[in-house]
Amino acid sequence: MISESLTSIYKELPSGVELVAVSKFHPLSSVLEAYAAGQRVFGESRPQELEKKVKELAAMPDAPQLRWHFIGHLQTNKLKMVLPYVELVQSVDSLHLLQEIDKWGKDNGKVVNVLLEMHVAAEETKQGFVEEDLLELMLRQADTHPYKNVRICGLMGMATNTDSEEDVRADFERIADFFEYLQDLCPELDDFKELSIGMSGDWKIALEYGATMVRIGTAIFGERQY
Ligand SMILES: *Cc1c(COP(=O)(O)O)cnc(C)c1O
Repeated sequence: MISESLTSIYKELPSGVELVAVSKFHPLSSVLEAYAAGQRVFGESRPQELEKKVKELAAMPDAPQLRWHFIGHLQTNKLKMVLPYVELVQSVDSLHLLQEIDKWGKDNGKVVNVLLEMHVAAEETKQGFVEEDLLELMLRQADTHPYKNVRICGLMGMATNTDSEEDVRADFERIADFFEYLQDLCPELDDFKELSIGMSGDWKIALEYGATMVRIGTAIFGERQY
């Protein structure tokens, strides 16, 4: 089931687009099933759950070498449960969090890869930067490079949770246009090249808007289990 879902997604995914298999609320056995089917990049949204899976994997004989992205809201008191284990934090949703990650990077001699989460969805509950704040941050980083221990690799966004394809397209278009605008404005920030948009219900649409990463959970693993 998991391997069949992955195979059909791989078939439709253009080369150069990274599939992040979102394994939150699914057991490690499901992660291992996906790994056996060739999947290497996984996304988690809760620090505790990530840390638990990482430790269980490390304790296995021939510990599988998989790569983790963090995709959920991250509280600054949980950085040490997440940052040592992930190759990318996709969900940096405030300047305060970015500053704290930068500080962690400095303290630990690392440069942390991040995406800035842009708020576009109609839901108030969704997190993220508004355009104005993104613009200011990017210009400042391009100008004086104040955050030396983060590498800003692009934007992440979530479309409104709706049946209206038109509304989803409008959200993706807004993110994609702003992504390109920032790239043109700050060409010196040449790590800024990832556009992470698209989930189970809308990833094929996201590809039309230039997604370089899609984050898919339910369509691979089924309904979340706990
Ligand atoms: C849970 C989650 C996903 C995956 O959602 P599905 O609809 O199950 O594919 C993608 N991105 C983020 C940020 C998530 O929290």
